[in-house]
Amino acid sequence: MAYQTIRGTFDVLPDAHSSGGSEIPGSSAWRHVEGVVRGVMERFAFEEVRTPVIEPLELVARGVGGTTDIVQKEMFTVERTKETYVLRPEVTAPVMRAYLQHHLDQRGGAQRLYYLGPCFRAERPQKGRFRQFHQFGTELLGSDDPRADAEVIANMRAVYDAFGVTNTRLRLNTLGDAADRPAYRDALRQYFEPHADVLSDTSRQRLETNPLRILDTKDPDERALLADAPKLPDFVGDEALAHYETVKTLLDGLGVPYVEDPLLVRGLDYYTRTVFELESDALGAQGALCAGGRYDGLAQAVGSKRPVPAVGYAAGIERLFIALEDEGYAFPAPPRPDVFLVCLGDAAEAAGFGIAQTLRQAGLAVDFALGGRSMKAQMKAADRSQAGYSVILGEDELAQGVAQVRDLGESEQRAVPIGRLAVELVRETAA
Ligand code: ATP
Ligand code: MG
Repeated sequence: MAYQTIRGTFDVLPDAHSSGGSEIPGSSAWRHVEGVVRGVMERFAFEEVRTPVIEPLELVARGVGGTTDIVQKEMFTVERTKETYVLRPEVTAPVMRAYLQHHLDQRGGAQRLYYLGPCFRAERPQKGRFRQFHQFGTELLGSDDPRADAEVIANMRAVYDAFGVTNTRLRLNTLGDAADRPAYRDALRQYFEPHADVLSDTSRQRLETNPLRILDTKDPDERALLADAPKLPDFVGDEALAHYETVKTLLDGLGVPYVEDPLLVRGLDYYTRTVFELESDALGAQGALCAGGRYDGLAQAVGSKRPVPAVGYAAGIERLFIALEDEGYAFPAPPRPDVFLVCLGDAAEAAGFGIAQTLRQAGLAVDFALGGRSMKAQMKAADRSQAGYSVILGEDELAQGVAQVRDLGESEQRAVPIGRLAVELVRETAA
């Protein structure tokens, strides 16, 4: 084979297949998942936006943050004359760009937006971690109402409920407001500095640049240290705390389960107040199904003069598939043709080609074999296609102006005038 998919990417084929140790579902399973997601979005009155997969480097660098793994090591960049672009590693910054660029605030009220599509990160590929992967997510832009936070979380919960994915844990925390952050950062530095010898090089560096990110560590020794570290909610001001309490009360009222995790952070300055993450037992070390929070500072980080209070989440579709596989989710059967046309001889092939068009114009899905195959081979293909009916056209039938219609489930057969095929098959497939 001359060419193969790039490491960490995969094809979606008609049938499920295995790629780099991961099971890649067939295309109809993808469409089903996307359809269920869209259905939930519509129930919450979220409207879709589609942004380019390629964006200015600056947008991503500012919008995702210079101290993140994404910007430091995971970006796919594209050089083009004097410009550098980046394949989007996430969609929140692009959606905010679109909101600002097109003045979507002028549509009135808070904008309930959602997206679904591919993202790109140069990570080490493994199960549930790809270089091209797919996210869906919501962005509720233009409201600081705590109901917006609860609404986004309720929407996220509703998506997983729609798939019956309940073996999950929603972790919740508040980061407070930007003004609360310096005191907390100082407290973290003070706490970690005497333990600097235990810290990894990366964490020692983060002590300088962004100590909140040390809370994200997976290192067991560092995690042990975290037990006694100062906790964010103790540094949060009254307003942000009241906001948090309201969000929790709203979630309690909806019966959305959560656990508070005072160590949950998003290591970026523009994140404010609510943060959350949905974990699944099915994922193990593969991380979270989805993560989100309020990011009242993002708009200004990407150049807006005015703040745009906003909250949203991003969810990985490949990880949702792992959770679905884990629970033995029953995907609907892929669509099958209504009719498989079997034509014997040149004249029948020519007539059959026209009959296929007539039946399709009547709304039926029609398949047939190419290449003048034998009756046996065509009947085999008809079976394999799992069509509801085969329509058999030989020289004799053609001479009489009929075709044999066979119900492939029952293998009974009868002659139907060619001119009545569409009407009868439409009636029978509808029954
Ligand atoms: P992780 O800790 O697993 O690297 P992250 O914090 O980088 O996740 P986010 O940036 O919050 O992830 O992205 C939101 C969601 O997108 C994740 O919860 C996950 O479901 C999915 N996701 C992120 N990176 C990948 C990837 N490389 N492959 C597949 N899914 C991913
Ligand atoms: Mg990551």
